[in-house]
Amino acid sequence: MDYRKRTGCGKLRPADIGREVCLAGWVDARRDHGDLLFIHLRDISGIVQVVFNVQAGSLYEAAGRLKEEYCVLITGQVVRRLEGTENPALETGDIEIKAAGLEIISASKTPPFPISEKAMTAGASVKGTEGVEEDLRLQYRYLDLRRPSLQKHLVNRYRIIKAARDFLDSRGFIEVETPTLTRSTPEGARDYLVPSRLHPGNFYALPQSPQLFKQLLMVGGLERYFQVVRCYRDEDLRPNRQPEFTQLDLEASFIDEEFIYELMEEALVRMFAVAGISLPRPFPRISYREAMETTGTDRPDLRFDLRLVEATDLFRNTGYAIFRKIIGQGGRIKGLIVRGKSEILSKNVLQNEYAREIVPGFGAKGMTWMRVAGGKLESNIVQFFNPGEQQAILERFQAEDGSVIMMIADTSSETVLSALGQLRLHLARRLELIPGNKYHPVWVTGFPLFEATEAGLTSKHHPFTAPDRTDFDPADRPGLLSLNSRAYDLVVNGEELGGGSIRINDARVQRRIFQALDLSEAEVEEKFGFFVRALDYGTPPHGGLALGLDRVASMILGTASIRDVIAFPKNRSAVCPLTQAPAPVTPEQLAELHLAGEGELKISGRREEDPVKRLAWVSRLGYEESERNELKKAVEAAADLAGRIEKLPADAEPVYSPSRPGNRMRPGRTASKYPGVEKKDLFRNAPAVKNGHFKVANILE
Ligand code: ASP
Repeated sequence: MDYRKRTGCGKLRPADIGREVCLAGWVDARRDHGDLLFIHLRDISGIVQVVFNVQAGSLYEAAGRLKEEYCVLITGQVVRRLEGTENPALETGDIEIKAAGLEIISASKTPPFPISEKAMTAGASVKGTEGVEEDLRLQYRYLDLRRPSLQKHLVNRYRIIKAARDFLDSRGFIEVETPTLTRSTPEGARDYLVPSRLHPGNFYALPQSPQLFKQLLMVGGLERYFQVVRCYRDEDLRPNRQPEFTQLDLEASFIDEEFIYELMEEALVRMFAVAGISLPRPFPRISYREAMETTGTDRPDLRFDLRLVEATDLFRNTGYAIFRKIIGQGGRIKGLIVRGKSEILSKNVLQNEYAREIVPGFGAKGMTWMRVAGGKLESNIVQFFNPGEQQAILERFQAEDGSVIMMIADTSSETVLSALGQLRLHLARRLELIPGNKYHPVWVTGFPLFEATEAGLTSKHHPFTAPDRTDFDPADRPGLLSLNSRAYDLVVNGEELGGGSIRINDARVQRRIFQALDLSEAEVEEKFGFFVRALDYGTPPHGGLALGLDRVASMILGTASIRDVIAFPKNRSAVCPLTQAPAPVTPEQLAELHLAGEGELKISGRREEDPVKRLAWVSRLGYEESERNELKKAVEAAADLAGRIEKLPADAEPVYSPSRPGNRMRPGRTASKYPGVEKKDLFRNAPAVKNGHFKVANILE
C-alpha cells in the first residue's frame, strides 16, 4: 500500500462522493447488522464510517475479525449515506466509505478503558472515560491520547504556543535555550537536585526558572529574549500543580512596565483568540493594597462584584463587647453585602452554616450577619447596636431590603482579609454570581518588595526585582517593609497566570538587597557571585515576565485540570503512572554517584516503605509505639489475604461472603456516649481534630 495516497478520515465531505480513497487509522467502534458491518475509522483528522457488505465475501469475513483499536488500512469509495442514516455528530456524517479492501496492519488487545467518544448512531451517547480512574488513564497514556478530545487539547495547546511564538518573533524577540543542569535559582521552592558523578559530592539543580540566565542574556546584549521552557519546583502536592511545568519566559532591555503590559496584553489576546475568546483590552490594573482590601486576595476574581467594605470606624464606641474588645486590641472589622439573595441566605443558613462552620473553616473565629428588611437590620445581635450605629451600617454598605450583610472581626488584619476573601468566593460560587464564559484579566501592581518572616525578611517575588526607591537602608526593617517593588502579576478570573518585574541593574543596589535579606557577603558570593559580578559590566535596564503555559492553555481550553493539556503529566502525587517515575535505583548507581559507599548500600533508593506508617497516613490516624506490633501483624495478615486473592484465577467464583449484608444494630435502645469522648481519650491518637471530630483527608488517593 502506498501511504502517499492516504486521505484523512475526518476530511471527507459530500463533495468527495464517488472518490476512491485510501484510509489508515484505528477502529474506533464497530456495529454488526448481520448483512452489513459498520466501523468508525479514526485518525488524527477525525472519524468516518466504513461499511462492509456481506456480499463482499472474504472482505466481509476479514472485517468480522476487526476489534476496537486495531490499526488498519482501508480502501473504498465515498458514497452518500442513505437518507435518515446521517450522523450529525460527525463532520463526515453525510457520507460513508463502501469498503473495497482491508489490511489489518496491527491488532490490539482490548484497551483497559473506552477510547471511543462518538456514538455510531445519531443521538446515542457513549460511555467515555468518565468514571475511569485517572491513574489508569495515565498508565496507558498512549491509549488515552487516542481520544479525540485529548488530541484536540494538545493540538490547540500547540496553536496557543505558536500564536505566542509568532507574535514575539514579530516583535523582535528570539528564542534562546538556557541550561537545565545548573545551580539553584531562588523562586521560593525546593530544588530538584542532580548528583554529579564526575564531581563527587557536588550537585546540579534543575532550574526553578531561567531567571538568572535571562538576565545574563540582557547583560550579554541580546535585548529581547523568550523561551518556552520547562521549570522544576519541588513543592508540596496540590491538585493543579506539576513538579515540572512549562513557562513562556521572556526578558527585554531598555524597557519599562508599560512595554511589558502592552506586549503581554497583545500576546494574550492572540493566545485566547485561538479558542475564539476575545479578551477586552487594555487590561485594568489594581494595586496590591486595593486588591487585598476589596477582595481579600492578591489574585482577585473580578468577574463578580461582592467587594469588601471597611467597617472598623463604625464601631469605635460600640456597646457590642466583642467588637469593642477587638478594636481595642488593634483589630479590625470588615464585611460584604449580598444583594437580593436573602431567601437562600436564611437565618438558619447564616447562623448554622456560615457563622458556625464555614467561616471558622476559613480561619476566622466567627462571623456576624445581619439581614435587611423594612429598612431595618435583623439579626441575633442587632440589639447591641444603637440606632446611630445601625443607620451607619445601612449607609456604609448601601443596604437595601433583601440584602444580607456579613462581617468578620479579628485582631489580625490578615485573618479578616483572608477569611473574607474566601467567604467572597464561597458565596459567589454558591449563589452562582460568577458568569460563565467571562474572562476578566487584571494586572496586580505595587506589591511590597519584602514580606516579614519570623526570622527576618523574604522577597515577595525574587531578590532581583527592582524596588520602587533605591535610597533604602538595608538595616532598617520598618523602612524595608514599606518599600514597594516594580513587580506585576497577571491574574485572570482569580488565577495567577504569570508575573514578572523590572529588575535591579545596579550591582550596588543588588548587594544591598542581599544585605536586607540577611545574606552574608560569603553567602552571596557562594550563591550568586557569578551573577552580581556580571551586573558590574554595564548592565542595561531590563525586565520581563513568565507565564505559566500549562495554566494558560488549561484556562483557554476550559479543561478541568492542567493534566488535560500536558501529554505525559505526573499524577496528583507527583508520580508518573506510565513510567513509574520516580523509581528506585540500584546500589551500584548510587555508589557511582558517590551517594552511598560500599558499606552503606542499604540506604539505596529501594522504596521500602513502612506499611504501618503508610496506613496511618492514608487513614489520618495516629498510633502509639506500643500498638505498633499488633498493627503490623494485622497489616501483614491483610497483605497475606490479598496475596492469596491475587493467586486466584480471575474468573473464580466467590465461595463465601464473610457476613450477610443487612443493617446491624447493637442491642439496646438508648444510645450512650462513650466516656472516652469527654476525657478526650477517643482522640488521643488523632493527628488532627476539629470541633470534636476526627479530621480526615478530603480525598484519599
Ligand atoms: N522568574 C519569575 C518566575 O518564574 C518570572 C519573572 O520574574 O520573570 O516566576
